[in-house]
Amino acid sequence: MASHAPPAPAGLTAAEAATRLAADGPNVLPTQRPPSQLRLFAAQMVHFFALMLWTAGALAFVAGLPELGVAIFVVIVINGVFAFVQEHRAERAAAKLRDLIPRRARVVRDGLPTEISSEELVVGDLVLLESGDRISADLSAVTAHSLSIDTSTLTGESVPESADDGDAVLAGTFVVEGDGTAVVTATAGATRLAGIAQLTQASTRPPGPLAAELRRVVQVIAALAVGVGTTFFALALALGTDPNDGFIFAIGVTVALVPEGLLPTVTLSLALGAQRMAERNALVRRLEAVETLGSTTCICTDKTGTLTQNEMAVIEVWTPAGAARVRGRGYEPEGTVEADDALLPALRDLAVTAVRCSTGRAVLEDGRWIAHGDPMEAALDAFAKRLGVEGPAHAHADGFAHRFPFDPRRRRMSLSRGDRVLTKGAPDAVLPLCDPAVAARAAEVVDELAARGLRLLAIAARPIAPDETPPATAEDAERDLDLLGLVGLEDPPRPEAQEAIAGARAAGVHILMITGDHPQTAVAIAREVGLTDGGAAVLGADLPDGEGELGALLDHDGLVVARVSPEQKLRIARALRARGHVVAMTGDGVNDGPALQEADIGIAMGRSGTDVAREAADLVLLDDNFATIVDAIAQGRATFLNIRRFLTYHLSANVAELTPFLVWALSTGNIPLALGVLQVICIDLVTDIAPSAALGAEPPSPRVLEGPPPRGRLLNRSVLRRGFGVLGPTLAIVSMAAFGATLVAAGWRPGAKAPDGDTLLAASGAAFAAVVIGQAANAFACRSSVTVPWRLDRPRNPLLLGAVASMFVVLAILLFVPPLADLLEQAPPTLLGAAVALLAAPAVLLADAADKARRATASA
Ligand code: ADP
Ligand code: MG
Repeated sequence: MASHAPPAPAGLTAAEAATRLAADGPNVLPTQRPPSQLRLFAAQMVHFFALMLWTAGALAFVAGLPELGVAIFVVIVINGVFAFVQEHRAERAAAKLRDLIPRRARVVRDGLPTEISSEELVVGDLVLLESGDRISADLSAVTAHSLSIDTSTLTGESVPESADDGDAVLAGTFVVEGDGTAVVTATAGATRLAGIAQLTQASTRPPGPLAAELRRVVQVIAALAVGVGTTFFALALALGTDPNDGFIFAIGVTVALVPEGLLPTVTLSLALGAQRMAERNALVRRLEAVETLGSTTCICTDKTGTLTQNEMAVIEVWTPAGAARVRGRGYEPEGTVEADDALLPALRDLAVTAVRCSTGRAVLEDGRWIAHGDPMEAALDAFAKRLGVEGPAHAHADGFAHRFPFDPRRRRMSLSRGDRVLTKGAPDAVLPLCDPAVAARAAEVVDELAARGLRLLAIAARPIAPDETPPATAEDAERDLDLLGLVGLEDPPRPEAQEAIAGARAAGVHILMITGDHPQTAVAIAREVGLTDGGAAVLGADLPDGEGELGALLDHDGLVVARVSPEQKLRIARALRARGHVVAMTGDGVNDGPALQEADIGIAMGRSGTDVAREAADLVLLDDNFATIVDAIAQGRATFLNIRRFLTYHLSANVAELTPFLVWALSTGNIPLALGVLQVICIDLVTDIAPSAALGAEPPSPRVLEGPPPRGRLLNRSVLRRGFGVLGPTLAIVSMAAFGATLVAAGWRPGAKAPDGDTLLAASGAAFAAVVIGQAANAFACRSSVTVPWRLDRPRNPLLLGAVASMFVVLAILLFVPPLADLLEQAPPTLLGAAVALLAAPAVLLADAADKARRATASA
C-alpha cells in the first residue's frame, strides 16, 4: 500500500494545465436529469383542482351547454400551461442557485497544492483527495490511504468500496474515508458519469410540510365544494328548482370554489423567497425549504466557522519543558515566539510534527497570506514558519507516510513515517495514550486554555522500533505516545453572531451549540457570543439513551453539547423533532450527512466543510455565517406569511364567486344569476393573478422576527375567518347589491318578471366590477392580518401598486370591449350600478378595519 508507493508525481504545470483546458474545454458534468417536460405538463392536467374542473366541464356537456364545457376545458389547459411555465421557471431558477454552490478540487500545479474550480480540471492533473470530497472527474488513484468511496450515485450500491493504488475513482462518487492522490483520466463528456443515461435518484424525501399543508388546503376546499354543493342542491330541489339548473349550479359551485391560479402563485412566491435568500448568501437546494425555514423553532449550530470566524492563530504553546506565547498577524510567517532559547528544539519538534500531520497550509496569494485547506492546520503551518521550520510542501508529497486520517469519533489522526508515529488530535483523545504523569500536567493546562475559549490540539509521537512491523491500523499506531505538547489556537467569534443570536432568541427560536470541541472551549465561546450565560456543557457521551429523555434534556435554549460524534448529532436531531421542534442543523463533516438529512433543514457551509455535507443539505451558506441562518429564517417567515396573505385574498374572492349561485338556487331562480361561470373563472385567472403574485412578493416586515415562529398551518383560523367571514362576505354583499340595484332601478322585482336581457347584462357587469374593485382594495387589506393598510410601517410594495392599477385597466377592457364582454355575458354597468360597485373598495377597507380593531381590543 502507501508505504511502498513511489513519491507522488509533481502534477502538471499551470501552463500545461491551461493548454489542456483550452484544448479539452471545461470539465462540466451532467447533473441529475430532470423529469420529462411532457410528464410535468401532464401532471398539471390531472392534479386535484384540474380534476374538479374536468368534472365541471363534463357536467356542462351533460347539462346541454357544450360551449361552457369547451370554455372550461380551455381554462384547464390555460391554467395548466400557466402553472407549468411557472413551475418550470422556478425550477430553472432553483437549479441556477444550486449551480452557485461552489464545486472545488485540490490539485497540485507547479508542484504546489492549489484549490481550483472543478471545471478547471484537466486530464493529467494530480488531484488531492480527502474524505468528504465529491469526485468531479474520472481518476486513477496514485496513493491511497484507507481510501473508501461511496459509489451509490452511480451504482446504487450503498456499501462504500475501498480504492487502492491504481484503482479507478469515478466522477459523481464521494470519498467517505481516508485520503490520497489520484490522476485525472477523463473529464466532462468523457467521464463514465456522462455516459450513464439514468442516474440513481438521490433518496427521495417524504413530502415536506408545505406539500402536506397544500394538500390540506386542497382537501378543505374540496370538502367545502362537495358539502356546499350537495347541501344547497338538496335544498334547491326541496324548494322546487328545475333539476336541469342543478347542473349549472353544481358547475358554478365547483368553479367558484376551486382557487385556480393559487398553486402557481405559491411556487412563484417560494422561488422569489429563494432568490432573496440567495442575495443574502443563503442558497436553498429545494424550494420548499424556504417555507420550512420560516417555521424553524430550533437551530443546532456548530461552533467553528459558523459562530467563529474560522481565522485561526496559534497563540499559546505548551511543552513538558515549558510554555511559549506566539504573536503575529493572521497566517503571516513573520511573528514572534516568546520562549527560552532552551525551549526552541522542543517547540520546533512539535511544530514540524504538527505540520507533517496537516494538509492545510498558509500560502501567499496575491500578496496576502491565506489559509489553504483546514484553517486550523494552516495556523499550525504559520506557527512553524514563525519558528523558522518547514514541513513538506503538502502532506501528500510525503509519499513515505502511512496515514490514519482524522475521524470525528477518534478525534485524532496519525501517520507512521519511517521510524516514527506522529499524532495530532483533541487533547482528551490524545492524552490518555501518553505517559500518565505528563498527561496529568498537560490536563491542567488544557483546562486553563480551554476556559479562555482556545481551540486545543495535542501533538504526540513515538519511535517505531527497528524490529516492529509498521503499524497497519490506527489502534496499532496510536499507543505509548510521548506528548510533545499542546497548541492553543484562537478563533475569534464573528462580530455579527451576538446580534444574530439575540435576534433569533427574540424570534422565539431556540439555539443549541452542538460541537465536537472541548466542553470548556465551547462554553467560553458560547458565552462570548451570548448563546449561553452559564452552565456547563453536556457531553455527547452523557446523552441519555431514551429518545424521550434526550428530547427533554435538549429542549432548552442556550444548551451547549460538546464532544459530540456524528451519530449523536443524528440522535439529537431526531429527539428534537420528536419533541415537535422544526430543527435547523448545521454540519460540515463527511459523517454529518445523516444528521443533516434528519433535520428539517440541513445546513452546510459553502466555504468550509465537505462536499458530502453540501450534497445532503437543504441550505448552503455561502459565507458560513450564523447570522445568515437567521436572515434566511426571516425571509422564510416572510414567504410563509406572504402565502397566507394571498391565500386569504383568494378565499375572499371565492365567497363572492359562490354567493350568486347560492342566491340563485335558493330563490329557485327568482333572483337571476349575478355572475356566470366564465366571469368567475376570469376573476380567479385574470384579474386576481397580478395582485396575488404581488402579495407573494411582499417585502419582509422589519418585525418579522419579533414574536414566535408562525406556528401551525398555512390555512389557519385567522385566514379562514378573514377570508370566509369578513372580506369575502363584504365583497359578496356589495356585488349582489350592485347587481340588485341595477335590476330594481330598471323596474324589476324579485319573482315578478324576468328582467330584460340588456338590463341583466349591465347588472352582471356591475356585479363583476364590484368584485374586481373590492379585490383591488382587498389586496391592500391582505398585506397584514393585524394592521390596517394605512398604518403599515413596512416598505411600500411597488408591485402591488402596479398590479392593482393593471386590474382597473383589465376591468375596463372586459367591460367595454364588446367581444370580450359578450363572451363573459356582461355589459358596462349603469351609473347606479357603477356607483354601488365603487363602494366595494371602501366597504372592504371598513370591514377589514373593523375586524382588525375588534381583534386588537379582544386580544389586548
Ligand atoms: P467543531 O465542532 O468546533 O468543528 P470538531 O469536531 O471539528 O469541532 O473538532 C473537535 C476537536 O477535534 C478540535 O478541537 C481538535 O482538538 C480536534 N480536531 C479537529 N480537527 C482536527 C484535525 N484535522 N486533526 C486533529 N485534530 C483535530
Ligand atoms: Mg469542525
